[in-house]
Amino acid sequence: MKHEVVGELEKILGKERVSTEIADLYVYGFDASIHHVTPDAVVRPANAQQVSEIVKLANRTETPIVPRGAGTAMCGHTVPVKGGIIVDMTQMNKIKELRVEDLYCVVEPGVIYDKLNAELSKRGFWFPATPGSGEACTIGGMVATNASGMRAIKYGATRDYVLGLEVVLPTGEIIHTGTRTLKNSSGYQLDRLMVGSEGTLGIITEITMRFTMKPKASGMTVAAFKSLKDAGQCVSNIIAKPLLPSAIELMDSVCIKAINKCMNIGLPDCEALCMIEVDGHPVAVEEEMVTVEEICKSTGAVSTEKSRDKKKIDEWTQARKAIMPSLSRYGEKFVSVALADDMSVPISRIPEAVVAFQKIAEENGVVVGTYGHSADGNLHTKMLVEPYSRESWKAGEKAVGMIYDKVLELGGTVTGEHGVAITKAPYMQKERADSLGAMRAIKHALDPKNIMNPGKIFDWEGSIIYELRYPAFLEPSCSSTPCNQCDNEH
Ligand SMILES: Cc1cc2nc3c(=O)[nH]c(=O)nc-3n(C[C@H](O)[C@H](O)[C@H](O)COP(=O)(O)OP(=O)(O)OC[C@H]3O[C@@H](n4cnc5c(N)ncnc54)[C@H](O)[C@@H]3O)c2cc1C
Repeated sequence: MKHEVVGELEKILGKERVSTEIADLYVYGFDASIHHVTPDAVVRPANAQQVSEIVKLANRTETPIVPRGAGTAMCGHTVPVKGGIIVDMTQMNKIKELRVEDLYCVVEPGVIYDKLNAELSKRGFWFPATPGSGEACTIGGMVATNASGMRAIKYGATRDYVLGLEVVLPTGEIIHTGTRTLKNSSGYQLDRLMVGSEGTLGIITEITMRFTMKPKASGMTVAAFKSLKDAGQCVSNIIAKPLLPSAIELMDSVCIKAINKCMNIGLPDCEALCMIEVDGHPVAVEEEMVTVEEICKSTGAVSTEKSRDKKKIDEWTQARKAIMPSLSRYGEKFVSVALADDMSVPISRIPEAVVAFQKIAEENGVVVGTYGHSADGNLHTKMLVEPYSRESWKAGEKAVGMIYDKVLELGGTVTGEHGVAITKAPYMQKERADSLGAMRAIKHALDPKNIMNPGKIFDWEGSIIYELRYPAFLEPSCSSTPCNQCDNEH
């Protein structure tokens, strides 16, 4: 990046909102993915006008620019692969309006999911997208990735709550999409285009979003199974009953063992379990819990435990949330990494998918934990790799390719909620082969200089085992940089 750019950024924002400190550049090179690249500068704008000026400068000087919320994305979304400026949006964190009588609120992009819900729930409402990262992730980041979570089967994803956006386009022009009404058929739905655009089409500076009523009661059933296939079948049987749960979390024995090792919660020691949540009117919840238990038993559950006690439900939910960190303590030499991390398949194909993932893991000699928001067909796998072993990464990459091939064969998608960025790019390109041209045309029309989060989605070429945060293949004798990313034998 040209040196003068930093000076101009300081003129726009003031020195205190611009950093080129080594420590800042280092930490802003990470998100929750396996990748790391250091940016040239980090800026923290306070309003849309400042964002617009930053983008105009980036456009004029052809400097790459990467918007960033909390940096919890898992596929390298905020890793600045071409260097440039990280635009940290977390200082724009005000809830500007909250109108329960109109069912909408207007928020800045840096508002944290749980904080918005804390305000909504005081009034009996919520935004139920429920990402596992809700304590940290921002509404801007959620819109830009179309985030969702365990309750998507009943309540949908972030896109279902976006009514309108204020966006700074790659030229610096500020536009307003959508409306403050619950319905609108007024021209192209540009807000829908921005949802899931991963910071490649513009910077979102304000979000108008709807919300919904909080259910009066909820209950949870934990059912243990002697096979992963039975657990998968149970998910499908519940939906086909028909019964609409608010969530079904499935987990395999690798996840159960990891949680039991790290938390004193005593999940049943079994091959697989389902945590099934229902919510709504207390009478309906009671009835549905009886039906859920019957279905679990008729699908081969070896034990069931159910509760309507909030404390117990929170305990089970916390255990589920602890899967990711627990997996990293599964075995001393492993870390759990986001590789094939959030595929979705049609619900009835879950049993086939989970069995295939286990087989692929065995064939490639890798440990894979499978879990997920299975009620909507969304399955997570976390791969346990030895971070400093080239062979381990290569085996992981091969398993990932096979998992995604299976998912596509089953009519699924390589990402149900986390998005594409780097780690899923080659597989998404396979999935969307016939629409990549249209995506590129849209990107080129809005961002002809390719300054907004370049090198991501359809713009990523090559292997995903690249720009790693771990010095996996580093050998002292190798002088090539970055040698941990090259494909040579050392
Ligand atoms: C423990 C854990 C659990 C998770 N669970 C879930 C889950 O259940 N469901 C789920 O969907 N995801 C989940 N995620 C992934 C991640 O939390 C979500 O994608 C989240 O929405 C990212 O929000 P963020 O604020 O951290 O965004 P960031 O990671 O900072 O950014 C994500 C993307 O959005 C873009 N972006 C951010 N702000 C803006 C803006 N204002 N304008 C334009 N683009 C912007 C960035 O450029 C980037 O491409 C999880 C992650 C972790 C670490």
